[in-house]
Order: sequence, then C-alpha cells, then structure tokens
Amino acid sequence: MSVRVGTGFDVHVFDQRRPLIVGGVLIPGEPGLGGHSDADVLTHAITDALLGAARLGDLGALYPDTDEWRDASSLSILADAVMKTRDAGWRVVNVDSTIVAERPRMAPHKLAMADNLARTLEVGVDQVSIKATTSDGLGFTGRGEGIAAQAVVLIESGQK
Ligand SMILES: [Zn+2]
Repeated sequence: MSVRVGTGFDVHVFDQRRPLIVGGVLIPGEPGLGGHSDADVLTHAITDALLGAARLGDLGALYPDTDEWRDASSLSILADAVMKTRDAGWRVVNVDSTIVAERPRMAPHKLAMADNLARTLEVGVDQVSIKATTSDGLGFTGRGEGIAAQAVVLIESGQK
C-alpha cells in the first residue's frame, strides 16, 4: 500500500454583494467572497490538496473560469475531484485544514462544514479536521480584506 500527501492554499477577497459560503455552509449576515464559483475558500484549499496528493494538477487548471463553473457549488467541484482521484486508484485517509479570518467566527459552523466535506470526500466525519484562527490583526486577513485557507490531505492507494 502506498500513501501520498498534498497541500492546498487559497485566498478570496470579500465581496459584499455575495453570500458567504465556507465548507459548503452558508453563513448568514456576513459579507461573501469574490470569485468565479461560489468562492468557498476552504473547499478550494481541500480540493487543491487532494488534486496535489494524487498529482492530478490544480484547481485553476482543471476547473477554469469558464461558463461551466460560473457560480458553481465548490462541493460539486470537490466531488468531481474525488471522482478523478478515485479513478486514479486513490482514496482519502484524512484531511486537516485551517481557515484564517478575522471574522466571522467559524466555531459555530465547523461541525456542519465537516459534515459537508466528509460526505463529499466519501469519508467519515472523524477523518476531517477543520481549524480556524485569526492572523492577529496582521496582513490582508488581519485587515479584514478576505479569508485564507490551507489544507493537507493524505490519500492511500485503493489496491492493498
Ligand atoms: Zn478559491
């Protein structure tokens, strides 16, 4: 059995006109994020980590800014990446991730996020870790200009 690890990092700028969706969860009453799809920064970081682990390319190359993916649910993009990864002979072992944002507070939403992501990744919720932190007022996240997320995904070959 072989294992591979991948990392993902993503940033989106706040856009007041859009809803805020993180980990597939709509967080009401908060400015959304700008982007071609639903701009789900956490799901993008995890998708990129998964694609990286399986060496399938990156989010921008596989899901470009075309009409097909305009306002797309990032969970559906992740589901497609999971299918590609499975077709390549891999399955997910676990995911760890960190959201970097001054606001909103992510704690009340983490369970729902983990639920969405686990279902899409076809793993148990105990295989998905979501953490959140601020950047202590520093940098673009500290100034409240946007949200960043990073993720690590471990995969193992399906054939044992
Ligand atoms: Zn993104």
